[in-house]
Amino acid sequence: MIQVNRGKPPDILTRKRAVWLAAWRKAATPKARAQALARYRHEGIRDALRDAFHGKCAYCESQTDGVTWGHIEHYRPRSRFPELTFDWGNLLWACPRCNSECKGDQFPEAVDGGPIVDPCGDDPTDHLVFDYDPVARLANVYGKTIRGTVTRDLLDLNRPDLRAERSWRVKQLAYLSELAKRDAEARALLEEAKQDDAPYAAFARALDP
Ligand SMILES: [Zn+2]
Repeated sequence: MIQVNRGKPPDILTRKRAVWLAAWRKAATPKARAQALARYRHEGIRDALRDAFHGKCAYCESQTDGVTWGHIEHYRPRSRFPELTFDWGNLLWACPRCNSECKGDQFPEAVDGGPIVDPCGDDPTDHLVFDYDPVARLANVYGKTIRGTVTRDLLDLNRPDLRAERSWRVKQLAYLSELAKRDAEARALLEEAKQDDAPYAAFARALDP
């Protein structure tokens, strides 16, 4: 997880947010309310979020578009905070695994060690450690604070298949970080791996602060 500036809301949201929210408030049946809330899936919002997050999951930093459709994720779940459904500051881009399978409708409050780390509101490195173990050749996420640990556990950021995919890349980055001390091409590749659009950039940055 890296810190992301999602930028300004797309025009469609600026123009329609109040209208959509009013339609939800007026909706008389559960079905009508659900239909009113579903407007957040507008293509203009989807495209703006995908661009802001460089097509990477806000939580696990995996590229979504190569293998699946990314999700518009509500940091505060819309089932519990419907008034934030169209709030640009509540929207993230996430992979289906982090969004649906792990987080779902959960949102731990402070009393339960939350809230989870917000990639747009927090600096994730204040709460999480992105560690590469060169002996086991594994790239692990650890909690630095209670919020970090709760985030790691809720999103299952060390789930085996994610960790395997991530470790495959990070072990190469670890080698690159050694080469980069004396090789200009390696240095350039490592700098690329630290950019916002690179998968698992948090680990590249941790390897080469
Ligand atoms: Zn994810």
